[in-house]
Amino acid sequence: MIPPGETIGILGGGQLGRMLAMAAAQLGYRCHIFAPEKDSIAAEVCAAFTRADWHDAAAMAAFAADCAVITYEFENVPVAPLKALGAVPLLPNARALEVAQDRLSEKRFVTDLGGAVAPFRAVDTADDLAEALVEIGSPGILKTRRDGYDGKGQWRIMADHDADGIALSGQPLVYEGFVHFSAEFSVILCRGHDGRIVFWDSAENVHEHGILARSSLPASAAVRAQVPAARDLAAKVATALGYIGVLTLEFFATADGPVVNEMAPRVHNSGHWTIEGALTSQFENHIRAICGLPLGDTRLAARTVEMRNIIGDAAEDWDKLLSDPANHLHLYGKAAARPGRKMGHVTRLGLDPA
Ligand code: AMP
Repeated sequence: MIPPGETIGILGGGQLGRMLAMAAAQLGYRCHIFAPEKDSIAAEVCAAFTRADWHDAAAMAAFAADCAVITYEFENVPVAPLKALGAVPLLPNARALEVAQDRLSEKRFVTDLGGAVAPFRAVDTADDLAEALVEIGSPGILKTRRDGYDGKGQWRIMADHDADGIALSGQPLVYEGFVHFSAEFSVILCRGHDGRIVFWDSAENVHEHGILARSSLPASAAVRAQVPAARDLAAKVATALGYIGVLTLEFFATADGPVVNEMAPRVHNSGHWTIEGALTSQFENHIRAICGLPLGDTRLAARTVEMRNIIGDAAEDWDKLLSDPANHLHLYGKAAARPGRKMGHVTRLGLDPA
């Protein structure tokens, strides 16, 4: 067990790190951020910040020397340099990172455990893409295997001829058949040192332009019917990885049951509602899990909960949002409001029956 007062290392310096650090501070821990960027909105709320390249082994070792345990808020942290962390535990482990940072290995991992995913094919060349279109057909989505997020690194192919205009850059890709879904939802779990798993209620998620727009609870009956099978699979993934901490799987609800879209080995945007909407948030339970503390109660704190993301210049309306006393406003402190950039979120709890 790592007692309060110790230092938790966090790889990555964005809003997830910021919210993890705030939960850690509440429990009496210090946090130390390691990130390559100059301005880190996570470091602003932490005790220490190492700004260095992921491949700077000396900086990584010095960072590790200050930490009792290390976690990550970003799944695209390169795995090889993490050797420099030495004996300091990395939780969740590096295997979870490896699996989740490559869409192809993620899909294979999930299907090996009996989960359903969209039909897919690895694409490295124009010939591969042509073959994928014959095999899987259109519509579909061509995605980069690595480093894609919030719909970035994706090309929608509505008809086969759409593929003609795509210049393949030699980057490894995967082509996925389009899944016809009635809704999207996520399963967020936390697995402790003893292997015990707790789940939060599954939110129904709506994406706009490939970016999460809102998460609401309770989910529709159609989604709720698919949650037990989705949880079974998520628990298998966590157990197979020897996972410790919060793990998220995003699902499509289809006529044939839940289909995995992707997994994230970390706290997730579709779980931000848990800060006010659950008895214990995803951030707090992640800190508890990696420090070996007992996990907190994950039940809902209200009858209905809705989280909306604040994207781009919508953040300028912070004063309007605050004029409604029911809104819990979270702003991440990002300086520039670029289109599509997640600037904050707002959560509302409802006490009346849904
Ligand atoms: P991703 O970045 O892979 O999570 O994709 C972002 C969003 O695009 C998803 O939440 C879906 O709304 C949509 N999407 C991604 N892949 C597919 C697919 N194979 N079929 C249908 N919609 C998809």
